[in-house]
Amino acid sequence: MLKSCSACELPFIRSSEHDTSLICIPCTRINQDIELTALDEAHMALAQHLQNTLEQTQTDDSPLKKELEVATKKIKSLERKIKTLTKKTKTTPKSQIPADLLKTLIFLVHPDKHDNSPAATEATQFLLSLRK
Ligand SMILES: [Zn+2]
Repeated sequence: MLKSCSACELPFIRSSEHDTSLICIPCTRINQDIELTALDEAHMALAQHLQNTLEQTQTDDSPLKKELEVATKKIKSLERKIKTLTKKTKTTPKSQIPADLLKTLIFLVHPDKHDNSPAATEATQFLLSLRK
């Protein structure tokens, strides 16, 4: 996992899961007064580059951040569409039958006119549920 060196504050990776060092290898060598090699210099240059890249992804004009913003807007717009469509689906049956016709249908299928048949009761209940 990526750690931040407590001496130079640049990112570094521990050599193993048992490694508990808080500072990067070049800083360890500096602390021990060991002369830095070309490899250490390369390590530090890479760490600096990595740090710059990481900082760039956190600024406002980062392409990734813009992509995230666009995707979030799309999701919100789709969520609104889903809400509208769900509302429409729920209200459509009610609005499709004109009130006068609904009244007539309830009158025609009323259980009183059909020997209290279960089918008439069910149909009447359904038509009653469509009333606003
Ligand atoms: Zn360091």
